[in-house]
Amino acid sequence: MTAPATPTANVTDPARVRLETISSGIARACADARRSPADITLIAVSKTQAADSIMPLIEAGHRVFGENRVQETASKWPPLRELVPDLELHLVGQLQSNKAEEAVRLFDVIHSLDRPSLLHALARAMDKVGRHLPCFIQVNLAGEEQKGGCAPAELPALLDAARLANVPVIGLMTVPPVDREPAPWFALLAKIADDHGLAGLSMGMSDDYPTAVRIGATHIRVGTALFGQRN
Ligand SMILES: *Cc1c(COP(=O)(O)O)cnc(C)c1O
Repeated sequence: MTAPATPTANVTDPARVRLETISSGIARACADARRSPADITLIAVSKTQAADSIMPLIEAGHRVFGENRVQETASKWPPLRELVPDLELHLVGQLQSNKAEEAVRLFDVIHSLDRPSLLHALARAMDKVGRHLPCFIQVNLAGEEQKGGCAPAELPALLDAARLANVPVIGLMTVPPVDREPAPWFALLAKIADDHGLAGLSMGMSDDYPTAVRIGATHIRVGTALFGQRN
């Protein structure tokens, strides 16, 4: 038998293999939940990874990446954007208000809107730069002090303020407590989003993305499973 002359020729490339593994995991979870894989955006979280580790995923056809720091993104991504104009960059980490303008210039989607002061800084930056980026409001469901995210009780006021400030909110994001069953937190976020008529759900990471997809995630944020352990 001869090898097929198709794009599957370099199936042994490790980045391609890891991407395929996650894609199959998404497909299985979608089949369980009668959802379409086309409705799930896989964000490859490349924080701490050098361009050398990112390029193989780009070469394998992946375009959507996530970072958690403005500074790191500013030094790493502009050259990659020059090479690959159709990249999409998501900010998945906490954002300081004084970096809002830089974030609006660097990113395409923001997942960590969580307080009025940041909302107003983003609104000003979006007006100034002329880019009204879609945002997720991050919700801190378990009230963990060390984590970003607004309390569920603060969400309605933040949503109203975002509407008034012309900041597009497309959904909710959460990072559930570690070492606990994530499904109830994902289900709670899905319920809150539904109550507010929000379609986007940014939830699920390397260890729990199939569960998140079964419960309705539209955006999963996967780092370790695509790049290996971070240093
Ligand atoms: C680092 C990070 C991820 C990816 O985590 P992995 O466990 O490596 O998949 C997802 N979301 C946020 C907010 C992160 O900071």
